[in-house]
Amino acid sequence: MYYNEMAGLKISALGMGNMRLPKVEGENEKIDRKRAEEMIDYAMAHGINYYDTAYRYHGGESELFIGEALKKYPRESFYLASKFPGHMMVKKEGGVVGFTSGLAGWPDSTVPGVFEEQLKKCQVEYFDFYLLHNLCENSLPMYDDEELDIIGYLKKQKELGRIRHLGFSSHAVSAATIDDFLTKHEGVFEFVQIQLNYLDWKLQDARAKYDVIVKHGLKVVVMEGVRGGRLASLPEEEMKKLRTVRPEDSAARWALRFLQALPGVAVTLSGMSSMEQLVENIETYQEPDPVTKEEAELLFTVADSMLSWVPCTACRYCTEGCPMELEIPKIIAAYNAVKNGENSAKYDPDECDPSLDPRRCIGCGACQGICPQNIAIPDIMTEFAGML
Ligand code: SF4
Ligand code: SF4
Repeated sequence: MYYNEMAGLKISALGMGNMRLPKVEGENEKIDRKRAEEMIDYAMAHGINYYDTAYRYHGGESELFIGEALKKYPRESFYLASKFPGHMMVKKEGGVVGFTSGLAGWPDSTVPGVFEEQLKKCQVEYFDFYLLHNLCENSLPMYDDEELDIIGYLKKQKELGRIRHLGFSSHAVSAATIDDFLTKHEGVFEFVQIQLNYLDWKLQDARAKYDVIVKHGLKVVVMEGVRGGRLASLPEEEMKKLRTVRPEDSAARWALRFLQALPGVAVTLSGMSSMEQLVENIETYQEPDPVTKEEAELLFTVADSMLSWVPCTACRYCTEGCPMELEIPKIIAAYNAVKNGENSAKYDPDECDPSLDPRRCIGCGACQGICPQNIAIPDIMTEFAGML
């Protein structure tokens, strides 16, 4: 494992994301604790020292799991990052916060209440890194609300040593949103976590976001480096192009090497779901092996072939609130495959589980506005239903 500097610390260049841990078969969110803990132990034994979680990952179980899995290690042997879920919250009377409509059933709390709960769930006295979760055009009013004073409260926790380093993650549409926020809160944040990979370089203007963060003198934490697995499994035609240059390399390795070439990137998070992925990724991070300029250009031609795909990363933020219990990311994956002529013969919704049938969408809109990729989910459902 090689290491980079961030906030004066030596951080493993590969970080362990805890949003896509192995799950119990047949369950949507429930973590397979045994398999997941084996992965954490392997990661610790092989030099990964950055562990990222959030209040909402795995329906709230991720923080509980990582707290349990890491408690046998000395506290100073790992860096733990978690996030304040303001992007999924609504302000209520008297400093109380509740969750957006897609998360009905989650109890109301307060800003301190959420933070204290997180420390307790993670079984720690402090977070090494703490982020506002998804600062974007929609969540800005919440994070800048003067009455709730989320940022003021977190700054206070930093003074008290309960947060060591403050940052934010962002799926903002525009790089200017990140730029303006950093300018307004100059000196408060030390790092920014963004979705960055060779496809989003153009598709979601990730290049401009990266440039803004570097311009402010901050480090970048990468999320979705292989885009929820999409860039780990390329169509055969695209793989052929890459094999002509490096016959042995996997698609995931190509994607991660692209990030290794960006000097502002301190740590790349990978939400790994299996031991195989973890072993392969750790291998990729033994030594820096950044793509050359020519290799980056080749990756951009691969990306060009995918620009028409609906950019779902299978984060599952949208699934909890769906009254029809539709498996939205799986339906979108099927839509992409059918639309791009990969799988049309195989996808017959009458033969599938009802949760995979887009014709069951009632257009209620509970999923609307929650998607960090700004996908118009009801429109996709309607279009796909029509195609079938
Ligand atoms: S609009 Fe369709 S997919 Fe979205 S929550 Fe409602 S039923 Fe589910
Ligand atoms: S549609 Fe959006 S919210 Fe739902 S899984 Fe895909 S990226 Fe996540």
